[in-house]
Amino acid sequence: MQPFFVYLLRCADGSYYCGHTDDMASRMQQHQVSETGYVATRKPIELAWQGEFEKREDAIAFEQQVKGWSRAKKDALIAGDWAGIKLLARAGSHRAGAADAGPSTGSGRTGVNTVRAEPPTVRAELVEASATSHIDRILQANPLPQRRAIAKAITLLESTRADHRAQADELLTALLPHTGNSFRLGISGVPGVGKSTFIETLGLHLIEQGHRVAVLTIDPSSTVSGGSILGDKTRMEKLSVHERAYIRPSPSSGTLGGVAEKTREAMLVCEAAGYDLVIVETVGVGQSETAVANMTDMFVLMQLPNAGDDLQAIKKGVMELADLVVINKADIDADAAMRAAAQISSAMRLFGLVNNAMGQAQAENFDKQWHPQVLQLSALHNQGVDGFWAAVTQFQKLQAANGRHAARREQQALAWMWERIEAGLKNSFRAHPAVRAQLPELARAVVAGSAVPSAAARQLLNLLFDGKAPAVSP
Ligand code: GDP
Repeated sequence: MQPFFVYLLRCADGSYYCGHTDDMASRMQQHQVSETGYVATRKPIELAWQGEFEKREDAIAFEQQVKGWSRAKKDALIAGDWAGIKLLARAGSHRAGAADAGPSTGSGRTGVNTVRAEPPTVRAELVEASATSHIDRILQANPLPQRRAIAKAITLLESTRADHRAQADELLTALLPHTGNSFRLGISGVPGVGKSTFIETLGLHLIEQGHRVAVLTIDPSSTVSGGSILGDKTRMEKLSVHERAYIRPSPSSGTLGGVAEKTREAMLVCEAAGYDLVIVETVGVGQSETAVANMTDMFVLMQLPNAGDDLQAIKKGVMELADLVVINKADIDADAAMRAAAQISSAMRLFGLVNNAMGQAQAENFDKQWHPQVLQLSALHNQGVDGFWAAVTQFQKLQAANGRHAARREQQALAWMWERIEAGLKNSFRAHPAVRAQLPELARAVVAGSAVPSAAARQLLNLLFDGKAPAVSP
């Protein structure tokens, strides 16, 4: 099987560039002719280190890990000094107050592919500047310093340290008046359906028309294992280096709720920076689709031409979220794409997502409401992408005119607040010393059937509220 590589390049400014590829020779050539992955001031000048992995996911996971490493750790990696990396990891874990597994050798070809994910220690050098110093640079329109400031701000948002969180809140509050002006587009589909190809084609098409495009991802696989289904920004090679685009991969740790929150906040930073289209991408597995639909103005589901043959695979719940379904790769088999479009349209009618029989009043309102559509396109050959954008524009106009756009945003903002209140309460509850002391015993009693679950819950809640737990049932 063909191996995958993670590599470190030494750059002209002394920093390191980390990437992954399945073809070292052509990737090195691309770097030489400046085709991929870095800005002019960071031109890579020599290959400093490379490691081999059997699986792409392992390579990507390791790459993400190395990207979060300090310079000292990268130097140790280049020197092959694994003991040094372990020592640095431990020192880092003391600073951050978290356990760092450090590297461990395993079954990989180089012995590095089972390195466990580091804890979310914060890259101190990225967040040392105060939040306020980022604000001016985010709001200015000079692309390079602005992109760096956005990246730093998002790193600050992703930090788990309490002092960083306070700075992050300060930053978001300052940016808030400048947010809300973008169109927020959610895109979901199984791995391989063509999301990154589509986003690159669409993004470049819109940049040509004067837009600025930010792409954020929510990758549920990274929240579970530190692995990544979506890969990183090298997937959209032209878009990722375009000065009118900003691409940020999924936060690589935390619960899905936590990751979704960081992405919502990152979206606000991008909006304040003047990106007028923010695309939030996710894979069609797990709950991440609901999370994305709940933070965007429009939710698009991408399907393969054979999807219609197996409608079972398309969950009703996901269909209900979709404002638009796109059948990609229509170039491969036009008939299959047509069949899939017809089958999905009729399934949507069946689910009642598109009106069949209407009363007089409904019929009069028909043109004022958006009705989910099914489109066919080829992202690879740039066919149908302008038709897609025409549908998005029509959606925007209707939603603005009938008030749904504003209503959806209001409802999302409130839901976001409540979700965070609930998460915050849960965290405080679990961290409360008396709760921590009594929870295991009460949980055992509930499992054994000797305590009523609701009474046990009330007893524990009373501990949190000093005996004054609200009278409402938990
Ligand atoms: P993702 O995992 O959903 O982001 O999918 P990618 O964008 O990485 O695409 C997976 C593969 O499908 C790549 O090899 C693409 O070149 C290919 N692909 C994407 N869109 C199209 C398309 O419209 N037609 C054809 N024939 N191939 C496509």
